[in-house]
Amino acid sequence: MRIEHLRQRLRALGAKPGHELRVLRAWAQVRPLDQRHSRAEDFLPLTLRTALPDLMAELAGLARLRSEHLGADAAVRLLVELADGQTVESVLLPRNGLCVSTQVGCAVGCVFCMTGRDGLLRQLASAGIVAQVVLARRLRPVKRWCSWA
Ligand code: SF4
Repeated sequence: MRIEHLRQRLRALGAKPGHELRVLRAWAQVRPLDQRHSRAEDFLPLTLRTALPDLMAELAGLARLRSEHLGADAAVRLLVELADGQTVESVLLPRNGLCVSTQVGCAVGCVFCMTGRDGLLRQLASAGIVAQVVLARRLRPVKRWCSWA
């Protein structure tokens, strides 16, 4: 799913630009929809509020943690399952960094690397990339992130 597709779905549920921003920020930054001076139920349209639990469950399914492995270099490798069952790797780096995958497989095919074993399978859509950041933020704070193959 692309972020633009997600925006279109929010708009179809009655979201105005401010609602859209609030929902997308809450998702990407792993924050509650309620804010100190503004509760979601006073702010978001009812149709949107009603649909949000299913939508959030769908977004959570874009990147699920299958396993994690601590390396000798203090990086933590996350094996992440995508909505179609394929897997990619995200890496939690020291000092709240994160590296996420932008594609399934890799065309380069270095002999020592499992990722490139079957070649490039597909590119990830934007929401699948952001979903990896969200998943990592559920495990620990992420202040900066980058992407790799
Ligand atoms: S992911 Fe990196 S190491 Fe693995 S095959 Fe691609 S370029 Fe080589």
